[in-house]
Formats: sequence, C-alpha cells, structure tokens
Amino acid sequence: MSPVTTCDVAVIGAGAAGLVAGHHLRREGHKVIIFEKQSQVGGTWIYTNKTEPDSLSLDPNRPVTHSSLYLSLRTNLPREVMGFKEYPFVVKKTGQRDERRFPGHGEVFEYLQDYGSEFGVYEMIRFDTEVIRVWRDGNGKWKVRSRKVKSGGEGVSEVFDAVVVCNGHYTEPRIAYIPGVDRWPGKQIHSHNYRVPEPYRNKVVILIGSSASAVDISREIASVAKEVHIASRSTSNEETATLPGYDNIWLRPMMENAYEDGTISFPNGVKISADIILHCTGYKYHFPFLDTEGIVTVDDNRVGPLYKHVFPPSLAPWLSFVGLPWKVVPFPQFEFQSQWIAGTLSGRISLPSPDEMTKDAEAFYSSLQSSGIPKRYTHNMDGIQAIYMAGLFLQFDYNDWISTQCGSPKTEEWRKKMYSATSLNRKARPETYRDEWEDDDLVFEAYQDFAKKISK
Ligand SMILES: Cc1cc2nc3c(=O)[nH]c(=O)nc-3n(C[C@H](O)[C@H](O)[C@H](O)COP(=O)(O)OP(=O)(O)OC[C@H]3O[C@@H](n4cnc5c(N)ncnc54)[C@H](O)[C@@H]3O)c2cc1C
Repeated sequence: MSPVTTCDVAVIGAGAAGLVAGHHLRREGHKVIIFEKQSQVGGTWIYTNKTEPDSLSLDPNRPVTHSSLYLSLRTNLPREVMGFKEYPFVVKKTGQRDERRFPGHGEVFEYLQDYGSEFGVYEMIRFDTEVIRVWRDGNGKWKVRSRKVKSGGEGVSEVFDAVVVCNGHYTEPRIAYIPGVDRWPGKQIHSHNYRVPEPYRNKVVILIGSSASAVDISREIASVAKEVHIASRSTSNEETATLPGYDNIWLRPMMENAYEDGTISFPNGVKISADIILHCTGYKYHFPFLDTEGIVTVDDNRVGPLYKHVFPPSLAPWLSFVGLPWKVVPFPQFEFQSQWIAGTLSGRISLPSPDEMTKDAEAFYSSLQSSGIPKRYTHNMDGIQAIYMAGLFLQFDYNDWISTQCGSPKTEEWRKKMYSATSLNRKARPETYRDEWEDDDLVFEAYQDFAKKISK
C-alpha cells in the first residue's frame, strides 16, 4: 500500500472506536495522536463504582463519570460476534480470564487492552488529556485544544490536518418527560448511575424503558425490591400482567402523571405509590468540545448533516465520526468506518463531491421523514420494520457498502447468522440466553475462521 498523502490526525477518545481508528490511520501511513481523558484505554468498558452526584445527570457542570456499566453486566452479544474482525475475541486461558461466551465487562476491558498492545496503539495515546475545544483555523486546518485533567487550566492548542471523533455516546443521559414529576417527592435516577441493586431493597420502583439494559436491570432489582413496574410505550394500555416467572415485576404502559402524594398514574386507571423512578431511557450524542461554526449539529439526537453517518459533507474527509450508529455490533463496524476514513484521508479512496454527499444525506433524511421515523432514530441500524420500509441501510448492508469502498472483505456470513440467532434467542429466553443457545454449529464455523486469521 502506498499512501498518496500522509496527514497529522487527532483522534478524540481511546475507547474501542479510538483504538481501532488509531490503528488503521497509522497503518495507512498517517501520523496520529489519540487524546484520552482517562488514564486507561477501554472507555465504556472501564467499570467504576463511582456515580455522579446528580442522579439524573442533568447538571451541565457536574463531575462526569464516563462509564455507564453496572457491576453484574455481561455482554449482550456472544464474543465471536462482538470481537474485531482482525483480532478475534477468543477465549484466553491465561491468568484470571473470563471464558464465558457472553463474558462479564472485565473480560471486554482486558480484550481491549490486549488489542492496544497487539497493535502498538498505546504509543499514540496521550492519557489523562482532555480535549476541550476543536475548531478550524483560517487555513483549512484543525486546532485541538487539550489540557491535562489533573492540572486543568487553559491547555495547549495544536494544529492537525484532520480530526476523528471517537468520544462515545453512552454518557449524557436522556430523561423521560413525566407530567407532574417536579412535585413528586420520590427519587429519580438514570441508569447511567445504576451500579448494584442493593439501594432498591424493599422499594417500589418504576423502571422506564425496554432496552437491553432495562431488561437486565429490572430483573436484578426485582431480586431485592418490593415491586418493579416496567413502564414502556410498547406495552398496551390494557395490559396489567406480571412478567412470566416473576411475581413482583409488572408490565405497564407509559406512565401518565406523577403526584405530590407520591403516586404515579397509568392510562389504564392504575395508580401506584412509588419510591423510585429509574430512567433506562438511553443517551444523547454530545460533543461539548466541537465547534464547527454550526455546520454539524445535534438535533433531536440526529448528528448531521453526515454522509453515511461518518463525514460532514463540507468538511470531509477532514472531520469524521466513528461509532455513531446504534443497535449494531459496534467493534467490527468501527473497523469498517476507520479503514474508510484512513483511506479517504490518504487519497487512496475517493468520496463523492460535497454536493453529492449533501444530496445523499438529504435524501436519507427525507426518506426517514416520509416513513414517519423520528430524527432521533437517524443512527438506529436495527432491522425494525420501519427501517425496512424506508429502504435504508441496516448494519450489515452498511458495513458491506463501506467494505466495497475500501476494497476489503465483507462481514463474515457466520457472523450475520449468529447475530440473528442471538437476537431470536434473547427474545425467547431473556433470562438465560447468555448461557443457553442452539448455534454451536456457527460457533464451530467462527473458530475455523479465527484459526485461519490467527495462523496468518
Ligand atoms: C450499559 C452498556 C452495555 C453495553 N453492552 C455492549 C455489549 O454487550 N456489546 C457491545 O459490543 N457493545 C456494548 N455496548 C456499547 C459500547 O458502548 C461499545 O461496545 C463501545 O464500548 C463504544 O466504544 P466507543 O469508543 O465508541 O466509546 P467509549 O467506549 O465511550 O469511549 C470513548 C472514549 O472517549 C474518551 N473521551 C470522551 N470525551 C473526551 C474528550 N473530550 N477528550 C479526551 N477523551 C475523551 C472517553 O474517556 C472514552 O475513553 C454497551 C454500552 C453500554 C453503555
């Protein structure tokens, strides 16, 4: 490979996305500095029992805890699917490693550290260094102002040809709107600040949401709480059932009102006196350091305008984002996006003109709108019916499209099949899917594939 151009690139964040971006950019011949405000790699996967003082994390000046992991968290994808294409997430027999197929968070953290060592990514990272501002100077270059987390102050500015944003999007909570909640005397918490079930002992908890975390946390809390009521838009107004297998978890529609006397009402006339509302309602994209003079905005959780979720057309390829899509298999998608960014920066891969990229983004947004899909689902790549109807990219089509741009191999067929098998198994056995499955044939196929990669 002979790169056409070598660029000075700043990568913001050394979570999984930043590690992969750094590796692929350097492999393409670029000079890379990865800024990381924490003192380790791993981002989300650095578990901490520390939570934020403001339990809803609404105060913009609060001390921010990056990770949203809870202590008991195990992956919701099998390690074969979840791992990088280039560096399979295989069982390690050394030390105290977690050998389970759906391991605990500590094993993912170690795997990311292994990845960093394997590809020499550490030498590009400036730890404990927070990026506080990114903006364009008058010469078409990017200025990055960073400061040491411990010393604070104004920081220093440096000039780069390109900036790749990999700051993660599971830190800034989204909160459900509940009429009357300001007068309601109970405690509200966002799952960003949930770690262990003990504080919920003997409490009546209303948990809002139906995501993977909501499923896990509701079951965990029910082991100690008096009652757990799962409020979700997907539950019909008439439903009053308990969750099969539990006598203290109720499925409720979205709550209607909160009252001064501590009660919460639901559309079907049910009123519950509750102690805690736990918002498992997701997160917002947040780029407090990024100043593009209004070119890139976050509007109802749409980061845009972006060409294929990566490049703002008028700033491409000099500004890019890795890891915005959700309801995806993140790690391999970071590899596809990073290869694409690295190749476009060197000039090996060409992009359409800014005008064409803008038209492409606009057409995508129009198709969402005409299908009635809210802006906040812009980066959702789930195979939900609505997205099929809009004829939009699902994650594997998207990855395949990028791989065609890069001239690199597509997603392995076994990975696609295993992802589908896991999704079905998770729906059928939400409590036990991590320990009971029926796709051993695909596991065998995956390991045959890994053996070829490892022997190379
Ligand atoms: C509860 C939960 C469970 C999950 N479970 C799974 C799972 O089972 N399987 C799976 O594949 N994925 C899972 N995910 C998704 C997970 O987020 C991705 O796997 C992946 O870790 C995202 O990597 P990232 O690099 O994009 O972001 P992050 O891991 O968040 O990394 C971003 C990094 O940027 C740094 N940073 C941010 N701002 C700055 C700044 N201004 N200056 C310098 N550094 C900065 C942060 O410190 C951090 O290290 C889960 C996420 C959550 C929240």
